[in-house]
Amino acid sequence: MSAANGLNGEAPYAKRRTFAIISHPDAGKTTLTEKLLLSGGAIRAAGQVRARGERRRARSDWMKIEQERGISVSSSVMTFERNGIIYNLLDTPGHEDFSEDTYRTLTAVDAAIMVIDAAKGIESQTRKLFEVCRLRDIPIITFVNKIDREGRHALEILDEVQEALALDVSPMTWPVGMGSDFFGVYDWQKKLFYTSDGERGGAFTQTKTVSGLDDPILTGTVFDRIMDELQENVELGAEGYAAFDKDAFLEGHLTPVFFGSALRDYGVEELLDFIAAHAPAPHSQAATGGRTIMPEEDKVTGFVFKVQANMDPKHRDRIAFVRLCSGTFRRGMKLKHVRAGKQIAVSAPIFFFAEEREIADLAYPGDVIGVPNHGQLRVGDTLTEGEEIHVTGLPAFAPEILRRVRLSDTMRVKQMRQGLQDLAEEGLVQIFKPDIGSNWIVGVVGVLQLDVVVDRLKAEYGTEIGFEAVNLSTARWIETDQATLQKMIEAHRMSIANDRDDRPVFLFKNAWEVGYITDKYPDVTFRETREIV
Ligand code: GDP
Repeated sequence: MSAANGLNGEAPYAKRRTFAIISHPDAGKTTLTEKLLLSGGAIRAAGQVRARGERRRARSDWMKIEQERGISVSSSVMTFERNGIIYNLLDTPGHEDFSEDTYRTLTAVDAAIMVIDAAKGIESQTRKLFEVCRLRDIPIITFVNKIDREGRHALEILDEVQEALALDVSPMTWPVGMGSDFFGVYDWQKKLFYTSDGERGGAFTQTKTVSGLDDPILTGTVFDRIMDELQENVELGAEGYAAFDKDAFLEGHLTPVFFGSALRDYGVEELLDFIAAHAPAPHSQAATGGRTIMPEEDKVTGFVFKVQANMDPKHRDRIAFVRLCSGTFRRGMKLKHVRAGKQIAVSAPIFFFAEEREIADLAYPGDVIGVPNHGQLRVGDTLTEGEEIHVTGLPAFAPEILRRVRLSDTMRVKQMRQGLQDLAEEGLVQIFKPDIGSNWIVGVVGVLQLDVVVDRLKAEYGTEIGFEAVNLSTARWIETDQATLQKMIEAHRMSIANDRDDRPVFLFKNAWEVGYITDKYPDVTFRETREIV
């Protein structure tokens, strides 16, 4: 199957909406994902997202960690079509230890839905992810979830989003009651009322068109009780917050806010309708040499934002997730793998639908294709029809946790190194090869990543390793001329290592040393992040 072509003469990319959901764990991302897929007709029954996850987990040993800890480690892509719009939903792991993966996934989206728990408001992980979106000017749509439970007052939540994130908020819908008084959702601009036809608080089943809040159609016991308050809220909301302004939204200054319940299906269709109408089509992409890749260009370009290795442990295959930036991709195309300086034939590209994968015959900017490979492609790689450019903006972060690798069976050094190299290319860990000594150091941002490394080396490479604490606290990439670098290496040989691309890195013992060395070498830049390519 190929994803839909453009309608009404519009370019196919203009019908793409590529987005992610950001949230703090437990806010309801999985539930909302499931409902979005259901709305799009991509899955047949609720429960599929989890069921699919479970099947995959059963197949894959290393995902035991996911299962045990109830977290989602791996990201994936879900494509579905609704009313002629192709939605590409990129999943992001919620756990903060895997935030690097999430950051990189956010480089591949054009918009994000920020899910907030109505009782908890903005939580730590939401805020961090929001900051990444802001850095990239990604427009954000806010979904205040779980309004069927006791939560905070709608006005309080709006104020919190506005203040905590320094963002204009524009309420698009209002909750009608909450918790035991939950009655539905009111779209005060469209004058639509979403409610259930059964008992109050039931699942969303019907939409009523009303003339306003005083429409007799709304007369009902619960509603009568909360009507005055709602009336007041809606008035306050209309006066106190910004009206929706599309430009401000696209520039990332304003977020439209939808109140809803993923579990009971309130607000889900409205989100999709909003994305179709207002979220941006695929944007331009910055590349090296000051080049800006535009989606309407003829030639294909794309970049790898994620690699998932060993999806099937029996085969050492990897899937590189490539976001297309321009051109029309056709199956079998030969593309230039710019970093390697080689042509690769993309003969079996994959589309990821909710329930299945299919061969991708045609793909357009905004689409994500999976490219199976045996390790040639890694995160940050650019594919083109010959042009020598690299897409920019995919960061690697200075690790905050460093450990020395301890190998139980020294006969397995080769397997261990291969395994670590592979996992580093997937973006799971960073590896540092010290100038002195043969034991590699691994660096991660979150401690859970270490557990995944141990598990996967055992399951996939038959190699048992452990980690030893080292007296190191962080790493910085060194940027300087060759002569200064040599001088530094001679003076601090114990602290110098090379990363997986043989780029020099300074391993620091503590924050004091970072300051001391930075002052001592004013001509050197110590970078906390580096571009991956
Ligand atoms: P995630 O960690 O963000 O993916 O959160 P989940 O989607 O797994 O949801 C966490 C918990 O909240 C689950 O028990 C859900 O059933 C529940 N939940 C999600 N959405 C809603 C909602 O709208 N209302 C209520 N009452 N519970 C919800």
